[in-house]
Amino acid sequence: MIDRARLETSLAAEERRFVDTHPRSHALFERASRSMLAGVPMPWMARWPGGFPVFVEEGRGAHFVDADGHVYLDLCLGDTGAMTGHAPPAAVAAIAEQAQRGITFMLPDEDAIWVAEELARRFGLPFWQFALTATDANRFALRLARLITGRPRILVFNWCYHGTVDEAFVTLGPDGPAPRPGNLGPAIDPAVTTRVVEFNDVPALESALAAKDVACVLAEPALTNIGIILPNPGFHDALRALTRRTGTLLILDETHTICAGPGGYTAAHQLTPDILTVGKPIGSGVPCGAYGLSEEVARRVQARIRVDESDTGGVGGTLAANALSLAAMRATLEHVLTGDAFARAVPRAEQWERGVAGVIAELGLPWIVKRLGCRAEYWFRPAPPRNGGEAAAAADPQLDRYMHLAALNRGILLTPFHNMALIAPDVTAADIDRHTEVFRESVQAIVG
Ligand code: PMP
Repeated sequence: MIDRARLETSLAAEERRFVDTHPRSHALFERASRSMLAGVPMPWMARWPGGFPVFVEEGRGAHFVDADGHVYLDLCLGDTGAMTGHAPPAAVAAIAEQAQRGITFMLPDEDAIWVAEELARRFGLPFWQFALTATDANRFALRLARLITGRPRILVFNWCYHGTVDEAFVTLGPDGPAPRPGNLGPAIDPAVTTRVVEFNDVPALESALAAKDVACVLAEPALTNIGIILPNPGFHDALRALTRRTGTLLILDETHTICAGPGGYTAAHQLTPDILTVGKPIGSGVPCGAYGLSEEVARRVQARIRVDESDTGGVGGTLAANALSLAAMRATLEHVLTGDAFARAVPRAEQWERGVAGVIAELGLPWIVKRLGCRAEYWFRPAPPRNGGEAAAAADPQLDRYMHLAALNRGILLTPFHNMALIAPDVTAADIDRHTEVFRESVQAIVG
């Protein structure tokens, strides 16, 4: 279907167009190359298509402006950190107000209680702790799981992503767990710490938990970091039953799947994890993370923590639960990341899905599109992948690069690393129609 020669020439043409139309970002990138590794403030930013990233001027809602004055429809939204749009007024006001009253104290304020109560209401877990990122929330949850179970290993699903968590940088190789490609300088081979099975594979899960040496399963309730992979009917029931039967804790990471609704996939499907982790959009982009514990886990943790040694327990950090991130979380949960926001965003995500599916059908492409709440994604394969291994096998980096760059050159930013769109509440029907048009134009240029 895809004419590889046309793909190559189209990609080269998009690359030239990108350089020609982004002179200021290009100049900033060249300057940045003298003071930052690879000319970017953090490694992933070198992966944007086009040879250099666009430098941002400012953003509001679903749109942002770059240093060359181009306006973009942002379907990346900081890879979920800005899921409800940039600079949401209610959060901005609370953040500005709190900044003037002090940013960090290492003391609680009333916002912490409000946020813990609200997270308990949304996710159904009674006790909460705060961190600075979802990564940290996951790391701390893993520590607590090992602490109270006394078990050495964890289990994750193949091609998962839970942040920069060492133990999760592992994939399922032909001979079992193998370090994930690109894993930089690991302290310990993650194959030692971690069992890996495919998502949706109940027999494999059962045998991996049988030895009762796994402290916890750390899982997204639906995978979102290797495409959107939904659980098969009955998978969550089996996961919960097997973890309970083997005394293994179940940690659900809702950092991305909160796109399913105000209480994430967990509330939408009445799941009952022992621990739940979340971060990114719950503070409108101000660094924050949180983890909730069941009554029983909380009791077991509390029984094991010695207060006089708690400053060096490996859980916490002086900036965790700072007043600014709590003010941001409170305002976000109260006014921004609300049921109303989902009621506006989800129909637009459905429209995005219909638009892409329509073009796929019209051009007879062997591709599919999937959606979870306000997140949607297309894949270069004819059937939905059932697990991370199948999804990873369908990756096509050159095609990804072309689709992303063609979109960017036409004013649309997709989520990097795969072909994902997050839809902010203020996206309009016309914005989505524009995406459909760009998608059709991009694909028509490369089909044989
Ligand atoms: N959990 C999941 C499911 C994620 O996708 C990510 C980041 N993409 C994280 C945790 C980590 O978030 P952060 O990088 O903000 O710590």
